[in-house]
Amino acid sequence: MGQRANLVQSLVERFADLPPEAVYKEDLLRGGFSFSEDALRIASGFKPKAYFIFSFDLVPISEMQQDENLRAPEEICLTGGACNFRRTIVSVRLNPRSPYQVQVSADGQLALTLEGEEVCNVELPAYPDYYRRSLPNGKPVTDIAPTIEWGYLLYLTVFRMCQYFGKKVECQFCDINENYRQQRRSGRSYTAVKSVDEILQALDIIADTDSDSRAYTVTGGSITSSLQGMEEVDFYARYPEAIEKRFPGRWISKMVVQAQPVEAVRRFRDVGVQIYHPNYEVWDRGLFDTICAGKAAYIGRDEWIERILESAEVFGPANVIPNFVAGIEMSRPHGFRSVDEAIASTSEGLEFFMSKGISPRFTTWCPEPLSLLGKSNPGGAPLEYHVRLTRAWRDIHAKHQLPAPAGYGKPGIGHAVFSVSSFMDVIEAGDPGFAQRRKDAVAEKLPA
Ligand code: SF4
Repeated sequence: MGQRANLVQSLVERFADLPPEAVYKEDLLRGGFSFSEDALRIASGFKPKAYFIFSFDLVPISEMQQDENLRAPEEICLTGGACNFRRTIVSVRLNPRSPYQVQVSADGQLALTLEGEEVCNVELPAYPDYYRRSLPNGKPVTDIAPTIEWGYLLYLTVFRMCQYFGKKVECQFCDINENYRQQRRSGRSYTAVKSVDEILQALDIIADTDSDSRAYTVTGGSITSSLQGMEEVDFYARYPEAIEKRFPGRWISKMVVQAQPVEAVRRFRDVGVQIYHPNYEVWDRGLFDTICAGKAAYIGRDEWIERILESAEVFGPANVIPNFVAGIEMSRPHGFRSVDEAIASTSEGLEFFMSKGISPRFTTWCPEPLSLLGKSNPGGAPLEYHVRLTRAWRDIHAKHQLPAPAGYGKPGIGHAVFSVSSFMDVIEAGDPGFAQRRKDAVAEKLPA
């Protein structure tokens, strides 16, 4: 067994109360994987990676030797095989140097390998009909309204840049602005600011041809001054308002923007937003101020947290789901040096929010080379950190008897579709009291 396989196996055994699939998933997300040429040839017939907001790759497009940016799938499903995995959906983060590779096995099937040894079988997402379609102005649906999470979530990044840019204010883990530039250079149709009409036209096509999508997210970069003459709240509120008028209740409606004052949050609710994600990124005060310097300067950590709590009074705590980027608390030069310290800090944040009925969720940090932290931390955070965090999240969530976060589909290993971290995979869906607690706790009844 190779060195990496040994590490993974030792963590699978040490944390035997977690699904082994989640340990592999976290390792794939933090360090990426590659495709053999044969596997890429097969993947080209499946749903392609749409670059829905950030690059989520460990190499820039300019260093991809096999045109992987155009040929790799959006996600893979780990299943069966040598490790007898239950279905586990993993976002594709490209890294030609990773010890993981998707290959074509002797029987012609796709398989995930680690250091040349087979781990499990791989399935790919079907190419949806709507991905073959374009808007009247010629833009493809993949640009305007791509889907992720195995088709569950329409990801509407309506502003593909952020007005926090440059070393002083851009979040140090984020490559949104650089990714926009590299996608344009590569020739991809990649609209900087999507109009409300474009979104509606794309959704018309999807609504006609698709029955898998259950939710949409409206998001994009922060607007610190104005965009097209509008401030952040005015700019973003137009999208759910128009979508809910055209397709009332067709999808669960989610919004990812900065933590806004309570009047603005009420406005989001009034135009039809059901779930609000005011992402706090990292819990530790010093790290927030350094890594999220723009957010710290324009809003401030204390105010950000206060606004999260106030928004819970508007949406109900179960429908406020702030994200954090798991792993950046261990980034050099400012992060914690030990896994123990990093877990203690992030668990404190989880305890703070979950004791109030708010379940943060996390995205596993992808150290993108076009971001400041990715450049200085190409190896990301240790796998042990990610595994322990996953367990801490599960245990604190269970301790407070919280429902599975709404708007993510079914929870539990073998069912979950959330692809950029494993928090949904480790919820114990077999827990008999779970369904009732979910019913009791969700303020507004939402479909799963
Ligand atoms: S606010 Fe930060 S994380 Fe969000 S898009 Fe801007 S720079 Fe990126």
